[in-house]
Amino acid sequence: MKTVVSVNEIDELEIKPQSELDQWKKLVKEEILSRWEYSTELYEVPCPVCNSEINSPAFDKFGFKYVECNDCKAIFARTRPKNSELHWWYTQSNSANFWQQKLLTLSAESRKSKIVEPRALWILDGISEYISKKDIKLTDISFFGGPLVEVLAGHSTNIQITSSGILSYKENVNSVRVAIDSLPAIDNPGILKKTDVLIAIDVLDRVRNIKSFMADLEDVVNPGGVVFATCPVSSGFEIQSLWELSPSLNPPDKLNLPSVQGLIDLFSGSEWEILELSTPGMFDIQSIKREMNKSKDVKWPRSLHALLDHMDKQGVEQFTEYLQSQRLSSFARIVIRRISEKI
Ligand SMILES: [Zn+2]
Repeated sequence: MKTVVSVNEIDELEIKPQSELDQWKKLVKEEILSRWEYSTELYEVPCPVCNSEINSPAFDKFGFKYVECNDCKAIFARTRPKNSELHWWYTQSNSANFWQQKLLTLSAESRKSKIVEPRALWILDGISEYISKKDIKLTDISFFGGPLVEVLAGHSTNIQITSSGILSYKENVNSVRVAIDSLPAIDNPGILKKTDVLIAIDVLDRVRNIKSFMADLEDVVNPGGVVFATCPVSSGFEIQSLWELSPSLNPPDKLNLPSVQGLIDLFSGSEWEILELSTPGMFDIQSIKREMNKSKDVKWPRSLHALLDHMDKQGVEQFTEYLQSQRLSSFARIVIRRISEKI
């Protein structure tokens, strides 16, 4: 299993304009309260990574109660609205519309160069390294994956691309080489047509259960096929330092944060083998420093002050590289391959 260091892979939130981002967070908070505060239809879930029922309280965020799994150390929202409500949120809510129409539009250019193109290269390199067949079927179920599939279509002629995210039908994908076939529900990937490559950007943090989601994909991804996925991780330095103050942790987009070890354990002995597991998050340090400056009344650990207060640019780069090499950044990407035959 390889770990890649110093690559340009960043969380969406890092390139969004701050004032619109603040507006979006306010909207999310208000909409959660008005839609779900008095709802009795909330469900308790076991750990979405290892299914353990044993967990400890972590923190509350926008009314969602997050816990930490005692076994695999995932952080997850233990009580959730039902699937249809979450589907409504992701496809119809004012917050989701604001994200799509305002934030994605405003940041489209920097998103393309800083996120989409590097990601497309990662996927294309992975395909040429891991898949030897000639005509390849690729299915994208990412949230807001439109720009990514367009870049992929522009770079490849032997890949048949289908955009199957739950929001694909709303995206303006112009490439004639991309077929649109939206999934009606993110938690039902088993109905997808067979594919060689599956891309799931920002999906694992939103599904009901990562373990069963991967089990469903065994019927979709052909033997020898690969899955490219990203998700925030609980074991990252930023999340561990900032906890509920982490600016990137916003429900109901980030309901599941597996730990790096939890991901490794999830796939060991399964139908999948991990080809790459990296935490290329680049902004853990900046994010912690910003939050420490903003919330001066919080009693931050002395060790954080000692480590970060006088860290210069070079120090930030070196420490970021260290975090990446030890898989300790807060944003992970993973490539897994479906084992051809069970050994
Ligand atoms: Zn667990």
